[in-house]
Amino acid sequence: MGDPGLFQGTFELEEQVMEMLGAMLHLPYACGYISTGGTESNIQAVRAMRNRNRSIIHPNIVVPDSAHFSFDKVGDLSGIDIRRATLSDNLQVDTDAVNSLIDTNTVGLVGIAGTTEFGQVDPLETLSDIAIENGLPFHVDAAFGGFVLPFLKNKYKFDFEIAGVSSVTIDPHKMGLSTIPSGGLLFRHSLDLDNLAVKTPYLTISSQYSLTGTRSGAAVVSTYAVMRHLGRKGYGTIVQRCMDMTDRLVAGARNIGIQPVIEPVMNIVALDVESPTEIQSRLYEDFGWRVSLTRNPQALRLVIMPHLDNEIIDMFLANLDTVVNRS
Ligand SMILES: *Cc1c(COP(=O)(O)O)cnc(C)c1O
Repeated sequence: MGDPGLFQGTFELEEQVMEMLGAMLHLPYACGYISTGGTESNIQAVRAMRNRNRSIIHPNIVVPDSAHFSFDKVGDLSGIDIRRATLSDNLQVDTDAVNSLIDTNTVGLVGIAGTTEFGQVDPLETLSDIAIENGLPFHVDAAFGGFVLPFLKNKYKFDFEIAGVSSVTIDPHKMGLSTIPSGGLLFRHSLDLDNLAVKTPYLTISSQYSLTGTRSGAAVVSTYAVMRHLGRKGYGTIVQRCMDMTDRLVAGARNIGIQPVIEPVMNIVALDVESPTEIQSRLYEDFGWRVSLTRNPQALRLVIMPHLDNEIIDMFLANLDTVVNRS
């Protein structure tokens, strides 16, 4: 994808992938490109916000406190002040806190459709209203949730269906099951993509909007292949299976006296155990499980990916029971 003028076939496939992603996100004519992942997409979305408003000397954006650490990189790279809004008890961003952080130097808002740690979806329609009232672009980080939420039985509005959403991050290399690195960045307005363009004197094209220069055509081809192969039906089956395993895990955890921090929205579960770090190391040392932790509140974090099965879930629950209740 380094020079689309020379590698036209790959470029055409990328256009088709963007069309498929756009159709999935309620905007078939969205514009954007296949990036290296959620981090690049988030960096670029914020760069576009800043470039819309170059006259602001000390720009800031408002993100939920639950935002992925890629936003720390955004702040460090760009000098844009990243203002983190506090969360409500259910771990969605508190929209009053978002409102109170907006000032004349604010260039955009961010909401998360599936937080990395808890799998929670922010009140995106309210955030969209706030963005519209303040004339701000609104970016939705659906890096993980983008390939989950459209396929859940419970429907969540999270994408361009919401009027104020101006850009979306969605990662084919997470629940899209494509190869790494495959990220997606989509804009509602082509002006935002134009705002990212730099002149490219020695290529067959005159400008480039990606953050990386030369980029892998394999990301485009594998995403095209897996999306065409699975289709909405295929993703639907996979997501449903992951949610069934998630329900099994949560029911099993409740049976041994452990509650989830929030009722899972997606296939991400945070289990509220006493002394999580100790449980984490016992699970590894005694049984070989590698379990991550959430930060605030601290809990055991489990992502129920398609390679798991019920037998593995039951095995984990039995070991968790031993660690938590029988020692
Ligand atoms: C994973 C994730 C990212 C970062 O994506 P990478 O592909 O690892 O760069 C950003 N935001 C959210 C919500 C994520 O879950």
